[in-house]
Amino acid sequence: MIKANDKNIKTWLEVSENSDFPIQNIPFGIAKANNEIFVATRIGDTVINIYKLAQMGCFSNIDAEFFNEDKLNDFMLLGKQATRDVRNEISDVFNLENKDKKDELQHVLTAVNEVEMLMPVQVGDYTDFYSSEQHAFNVGCLFRDPNNALLPNWKHIPVGYHGRASSVVPSGLDFHRPKGQKKPPTEEVPVFGQSNLLDFELETAFFTYEGKPLGDSITTAEADDYIFGMALFNDWSARDIQGWEYVPLGPFLGKNFASHISCWIVTLDALEPFRTAGPVQDPKVLPYLEYEGDKHIDINLEVLIQPEGSEEASVCKSNYKYMYWNMNQQLAHHTINGCDINVGDCYGSGTISGPEEGQFGSMLEISWKGTKTVPMKDGTERKFINDNDTVIMRGFAQKDGVRIGFGEVSAKVLPAK
Ligand code: MN
Repeated sequence: MIKANDKNIKTWLEVSENSDFPIQNIPFGIAKANNEIFVATRIGDTVINIYKLAQMGCFSNIDAEFFNEDKLNDFMLLGKQATRDVRNEISDVFNLENKDKKDELQHVLTAVNEVEMLMPVQVGDYTDFYSSEQHAFNVGCLFRDPNNALLPNWKHIPVGYHGRASSVVPSGLDFHRPKGQKKPPTEEVPVFGQSNLLDFELETAFFTYEGKPLGDSITTAEADDYIFGMALFNDWSARDIQGWEYVPLGPFLGKNFASHISCWIVTLDALEPFRTAGPVQDPKVLPYLEYEGDKHIDINLEVLIQPEGSEEASVCKSNYKYMYWNMNQQLAHHTINGCDINVGDCYGSGTISGPEEGQFGSMLEISWKGTKTVPMKDGTERKFINDNDTVIMRGFAQKDGVRIGFGEVSAKVLPAK
């Protein structure tokens, strides 16, 4: 068992009852406070400067300079054992049993509302999968044929595409509605203009450590050792641009104008207690995609829309456990041809839709391609996302009295430029 995951550990820092960040979480991020940028973690509503902790000699084997960084990549380059050791050592420092050190640690602490969270990882490559069966089924029904909703390859391959890393951005960065080429069904020829069918996609993302050299593969059994942690992920999609451009090579400008991640990377270690069994995969997968043990994770997910000047309205409650393909299978498939992966690479899960109505992870599905509306708290309705709407995603795992959460990923849609 991973030491920092012990549910009996208590901390001398204040943590409210429903906090996403008990001492059992210890996520990693990049924070800015008092004009300093540093590698940080968070317990309750307190942000902890890990660089200053390291300068005090709190970590046995790591030079403090690994934390004097504006991205987590150098720290992640040290690999799984090193990041696990640091998490365990941070847990020790803030353990209630060590409260006599409280006074000498005050200078590493900042209240969360005095901190700006920055992009945590330098993303070199970004891949997006399509691994929720309900989502693939819904999209197949909407655009093709309910009797053949899943394409023939879907239950044999964790389908994915290479996305664009430059527009993977942190929570809180507002962005402008994209413009582009589209061909509405009423038009003979394509037209140019702003996207009128702007959508979110409820996803999680995982981030990798350094992989193997080009030509080698990572097995499903090895995959856990190559995954640093996870974040919430909003893979914004302009459905009208996407619908006209996507045949034959898949998503392009309908997807790459912005994809937001939550700013605290929750380690795979912290999520281990929430492992759960995945669905039975029938037909049987090829041997390189077989896996042993529980590799899915029970994470509650929610999407809310907040119109300007109004309250948040919940539009979806889903769960990461509904995925058909797990991260181990995605990484094994991604590298089976010898494709190499690098530290900081980002992998989107694909839209996470549950089996029931109310659990669908995009407005495309919630509004059933614009045939249904969703009520907002200010009396307006939505089929897709309006200008000045803020879309918020939250997520947490909970079991045996421990709640490990992500905080939120949130972004506001500004009018087209
Ligand atoms: Mn997506």
